[in-house]
Amino acid sequence: MCYADTDTNDDGTATAFCYCGWCDHYATPDEADAAAAAHERANNTPEIVPWCA
Ligand SMILES: [Zn+2]
Repeated sequence: MCYADTDTNDDGTATAFCYCGWCDHYATPDEADAAAAAHERANNTPEIVPWCA
């Protein structure tokens, strides 16, 4: 079970991330929220990418 969350960046963009190692950057917090929710609903193993710095 994945637990994704998001962080809003100083420039107004947002990062979505998950404890499984998935993360991605989005132009808006709304997009990041949607991506995080979609990631949590996905049953397939997500592609593991390096942790977002
Ligand atoms: Zn995950």
